[in-house]
Amino acid sequence: MVSVEAIANRLVEYIARKASGLPVDDIDLHRITGSSRYPIMRKVVNIVASDIVVIQKGLIRCGICGKGPFTRRGFYLHLTRVHRNEIISMITENYEDLAKRYVPPKY
Ligand SMILES: [Zn+2]
Repeated sequence: MVSVEAIANRLVEYIARKASGLPVDDIDLHRITGSSRYPIMRKVVNIVASDIVVIQKGLIRCGICGKGPFTRRGFYLHLTRVHRNEIISMITENYEDLAKRYVPPKY
């Protein structure tokens, strides 16, 4: 299985798009995470994407460093260029936290 760190590294752009309000496709998320990690990673993506953005009076500001306001595209670039490592850490920490408590559905 691909490591959480490797997946986190590939998820930065997806999360930055989602946080910036740019279009994202769930199929891409599934492709990046693989089936077994998808259920938890989907939750992690939602948590991290909402933690790293602050919408203030309709303007986008960075939830990590407070800079802004940004355009959607400008915020995407800010996140992927300035905060890549923080976002990777946030993904792995949230994943490990949720994985401890995750109970797979019974069929
Ligand atoms: Zn920032």
